Amino acid sequence: MYLKKIEAQGFKSFANKMVLEFNPGIMGIVGPNGSGKSNVADAVRWVLGEQSAKSLRGNNMQDVIFAGTENRKPQGYAYVGLTIDNSDHMLAIDFDEVTISRRVYRSGESEYLINGGACRLKDIYELFYDTGVGKEGYSIIGQGQIDRILSGKPEERRELFDEAAGIVKFKKRRQVAAKKLESEETNLVRVSDILGELE
Ligand code: ATP
Repeated sequence: MYLKKIEAQGFKSFANKMVLEFNPGIMGIVGPNGSGKSNVADAVRWVLGEQSAKSLRGNNMQDVIFAGTENRKPQGYAYVGLTIDNSDHMLAIDFDEVTISRRVYRSGESEYLINGGACRLKDIYELFYDTGVGKEGYSIIGQGQIDRILSGKPEERRELFDEAAGIVKFKKRRQVAAKKLESEETNLVRVSDILGELE
């Protein structure tokens, strides 16, 4: 699995359609200060489902939409598409190439797609569990993050190890199962109360 392509339009400083194509191996993005290098990493985190405007260096979620310049009108929406080569089928989906995309309008309306089909944010999270790629993964190490990891709480560091060990999806499933069990137990108590009243 490797990142093949990033497309962005109307996202932060990328008013026009921007396409970055990557090959296997090491690639670097260089440019002067303020030219948009970190915005590329923000685009990746955003399409992977980042919900925190602060993590994307903004005040609210609409701040990811191109705000306009002296010579250019603001854009009405932001779009990012991420194409991943999945020929090794590391992502549990039956395609050799997977494109996930996210679009948000100024009105707040937004959508997520996997290979062009609308999906839920949850589907994007689940697709990337245990691959290290998800928004909580370790594939994007932002400025200052190493310090935060080293000085962070043990539970936070544990999350990184869980992701690397590939057990996150099982933990999430256990949480869902535990919640269901809890609500079934409440239902059972209710049923036995009703039965008690009827006897
Ligand atoms: P450095 O090397 O200093 O870290 P960089 O290349 O990583 O810089 P970024 O931080 O990615 O640069 O880009 C910052 C630029 O993006 C600024 O010029 C900022 O005005 C612009 N920018 C951010 N959000 C928006 C937006 N919503 N609309 C228009 N431009 C934006």
